[in-house]
Formats: sequence, structure tokens, C-alpha cells
Amino acid sequence: MTEAVLPPPATVAIRPLVAGNWKMNGAKQGLEEALAIRDALAVNVVAADVMICPPATLLMVMAEILAAEAENATLQLGGQDCHVAMAGAHTGDVSAEMLQDAGATAVIVGHSERRVDHAETDGMVRSKAAAAHRAGLAAIVCVGETAGERRAGLTLAIVGRQLAGSLPDGAKAANTVVAYEPVWAIGTGLTPTPTDVAEVHAFIRQALAARYGGEGTQMRILYGGSVKPENARQLMAVANVNGALVGGASLKAKDFLGVVAAYAI
Ligand code: PEP
Repeated sequence: MTEAVLPPPATVAIRPLVAGNWKMNGAKQGLEEALAIRDALAVNVVAADVMICPPATLLMVMAEILAAEAENATLQLGGQDCHVAMAGAHTGDVSAEMLQDAGATAVIVGHSERRVDHAETDGMVRSKAAAAHRAGLAAIVCVGETAGERRAGLTLAIVGRQLAGSLPDGAKAANTVVAYEPVWAIGTGLTPTPTDVAEVHAFIRQALAARYGGEGTQMRILYGGSVKPENARQLMAVANVNGALVGGASLKAKDFLGVVAAYAI
């Protein structure tokens, strides 16, 4: 008997995400920047979801202001990290449920600064991503090699190890985003070439598809590391780049909107 030849799966366009990571920056005056971003998005339609991940201190007030001033707020909010537990004796930590309660729809986990500053392992990042899913948040899981690892030709090995160890089983396209952030590109003004970005993103896509099947083909893969208005269009045009995770350039509405403009309709 000859095997039935199935038609190739219909490719569903992936809606990009541009997420701004404010890190440990921003006080109440930062709210004006968020409002400016939201107001610009109300009049300039972009083919992307747009998100700000402010410090936890600003999350709730930002959610309230954005919701109060626009019925159809198009600016989403995310956290920058979460504890694995729902609640309890963990002084100084914030749970995924608390972030959700404050108005977040997503949380960054495994950012290289946390992997270094807080000795977070792939296993810890995986538990945090699972905690995000438990709370109904999307997990934005960061991976990326150091300069030394790239020089040693280990980029794909490192990214592959981080992906395998940091992503929980059962992850779905709706609740999981991978951010490829070469550590050496973060905050330095350096970026990989589009060819290098394409190579790593194709590798990540393959790994996601192999592990999660159709869900893996639809997960968003963001590029992060010195994305600015000047380079956003070129980087966002690379195959399998489904948006950006933006640090420094997300702090000012003008710069962040310049990055978002890569997806102007
Ligand atoms: C980041 O830290 O996630 C980041 C991408 O920073 P920057 O854009 O400043 O390089």
C-alpha cells in the first residue's frame, strides 16, 4: 500500500512581539513614557504586540493608568522575573500569580543578568517558566552565549543546552516566547550580523519544532541585544525573528517607538 502524501501544513503567520525590558530603571515619571507609547500605538497601527516590562514597583500603577485612559489598551505589561512558588516565606521575591494580579500577561525568565547575578541555572529557569504558565502568564525565556563561548564556536551548543534545560514540557505557542540574547550584545552597542542571527534563530526554530511539534513552529523567537531604531528594521527582517526584546532603547518612548516602527503597517 502506498503511503498517503499529506499536504504541507498551512503556515500561520506568527504575530511578532516587541517587548521592552526596563530592568532596574524607572520611577513614577516613567509612567509618562508608557502613556506616550500607548497613545502612539492608538494612532499608528503596527503588526505586532507591544509590551513593557517595568520594575515590579511600577507594574500595578502602570496597569491601572493604561486601563483607565484607554478602553482598548494595546500596550501589554510583563514582569522581569518571578519566584517558582505561588506565595510564602521568600523575602523580596514576587510570584507569577502576583505579577498576574498586578496586570502582567507575561514574565521574562532566565535573563542573562539574572543567570549571572543570581546564579540561576537552566533548571531554575525552567521552574520559573512553569510557574508563569501556572499563573496564566506567557514566559519569555532568554537564552544566549557569552563572547567567549561564541569565540570558541560553542554558540549553538550553549543555546541548545539552555533551550533543552530552560523550557518546560508542554509549552505552547500561546504561553512561551524564546528570546535569543547574545550576552555580549546586551547593552554594548554590538550586534551579531543578520547571517549569524539567522543561523541561531533557524537552530532555535528547529529545536522547538522537534520538541513541541506544531506548537514549536508557532512559538515566537525574539532577538535581543542592542536593538535600536537604527538597526531594528534589518534585524526584524531576518528569517525566524518574530520580534525583539529591547533593553536600553525601551526606556524612552521615542526610541522604543522607533524600534516598534519596524512593524509599521
Ligand atoms: C536586554 O537586556 O534584554 C537587552 C536586550 O538590553 P539592550 O537592548 O540594552 O542591549
